[in-house]
Amino acid sequence: MKKLLLATRNRHKVEEIKHFLTASDFEILTLNDFPHVPEVAEDQPTLERNALKKARTAYEAAGVLSLADDTGLECYYLELKPGVYSARYAGEDATYEDNNRKLLWAMKAVPFRRRNARFRTVIAIVGKGIEEIVEGRVEGNILEAPRGANGFGYDPLFVPLGQEKTYAEMMLEEKNKISHRASALKKAAELLRTIVAENK
Ligand code: IMP
Repeated sequence: MKKLLLATRNRHKVEEIKHFLTASDFEILTLNDFPHVPEVAEDQPTLERNALKKARTAYEAAGVLSLADDTGLECYYLELKPGVYSARYAGEDATYEDNNRKLLWAMKAVPFRRRNARFRTVIAIVGKGIEEIVEGRVEGNILEAPRGANGFGYDPLFVPLGQEKTYAEMMLEEKNKISHRASALKKAAELLRTIVAENK
């Protein structure tokens, strides 16, 4: 069975990714199986380059087909910020609450029609002769105050287009059916099936 290394040490991410890849013909490994793979600074200017950097580092150190992701919230009024800086929008040690507060401040008094935003997840898959990128995005709007207690990050501020609830008001299963990450993971699963079919 072909091996796939998930280039993350985040247990929740591993579970979510595994959920989408269960039908794929891969033995799923994580960085816990390869303690010598170095930590990667997510210091690139785009989500694509961060994801590629993580997947390349894992592949080069472990020699196993590797998958890495990066996600950002892109607000059109803020010229796609916080984007690649989503985790540290309010500073290096910022909490989710700090980041949400800063975003609300940056969007203060911005009318509803200009509060549109999108979540974007980029997944990179790197192996021998393989460097591929897929993307999932969900368009939506930023509220003027947080709503809901589920989820994480900017979930309480984001209402996907066509929905009434914020991500944080949805049950996890509900969010995971429609989310940006789910969309990217479905495409990654499809790509992995092609890789197996072509026996790369
Ligand atoms: P990561 O690339 O998955 O680590 O995400 C970077 C940052 O984007 C996180 O620290 C969160 O602030 C934000 N983020 C990523 N995914 C989500 C999501 O599904 N909901 C809300 N915020 C998210």
